[in-house]
This record gives sequence, C-alpha cells and structure tokens, in this order.
Amino acid sequence: MYKGSCLCGKIHYQVNAELSDFGYCHCVSCQKASGSSYGANAGLSRDSFSLTDHESHLREFESSAGKFRAFCSNCGSPLYAYLSKSPDVIRIRLGSLDTPFDKRCQAHTFVSENASWESIDNDADVPQFDEWATRDVLVQSGSRQT
Ligand SMILES: [Zn+2]
Ligand SMILES: [Zn+2]
Repeated sequence: MYKGSCLCGKIHYQVNAELSDFGYCHCVSCQKASGSSYGANAGLSRDSFSLTDHESHLREFESSAGKFRAFCSNCGSPLYAYLSKSPDVIRIRLGSLDTPFDKRCQAHTFVSENASWESIDNDADVPQFDEWATRDVLVQSGSRQT
C-alpha cells in the first residue's frame, strides 16, 4: 500500500496497511531526532511492515529507557521507532515515505517544548496540546500517549 526508503536508498520498506492519523510532535526529542522543528509519525502493526536492507545498514538507538529509534547507518535517515513494551506497533517517519500520503495533521502535540524559531500559526484550525493530544482528537498508537 505504501513504500518508503532512507535518503541514500540502501534501505527500503513496504507497508501493507492503512497508516494511522498523525500529529506534529514538537517535543525536544523529535526536534533532535528529525533535525527540524517537529516529528510527523504514524503508527502501524509490525506485521504489515517489511523491510529490505541487503547491506545491513539498519541500526537502533535507545533514546530513552525502552524507546528504540531505527535509522540508516549510512545516511542517518530516521525510519521508525517503537517501545519495547509494545514492539508489535511501530511508528514510521512520514518523511521517509515515497508513496503519496494524503491525510492531514490532526493535532500539534508538546507545543510546550516548541522551538523558539518555529511558528505554528499556519495551522490555526488544528488543535494544539501542551503534551499528548487527547484521544478523542488523535490516537497515537505505539507511543507513550496515555
Ligand atoms: Zn540510507
Ligand atoms: Zn515528540
């Protein structure tokens, strides 16, 4: 249904499921992991995800206890993340998709940590949350949303 890859093209993946709704996460970890002002990630079951990595470039980094971020060790592109307590659900980085994806951002989360140089004004109709979105607005499967 969807295909994606890292920047150098050594790693390709395929998703055989619809991707979940997503938000823009402005937390400091997403800023560091993306090198930009927010992360955009959608959850899916690992069963529906398959990866091609002939030269074994995929690496994982445990960014906080139990949170693993998978990336290409050749080009550094972040590809997905998961929690060790729910390894069957992964969260892919939407920027790694090659297939068009036409859902729209449902919420801005962790705006309490928003970068001082980022303005969120262009999405005035999208709700904003100091931390996680409430589940009636956005369910972030595979995350620590409570
Ligand atoms: Zn790469
Ligand atoms: Zn975040």
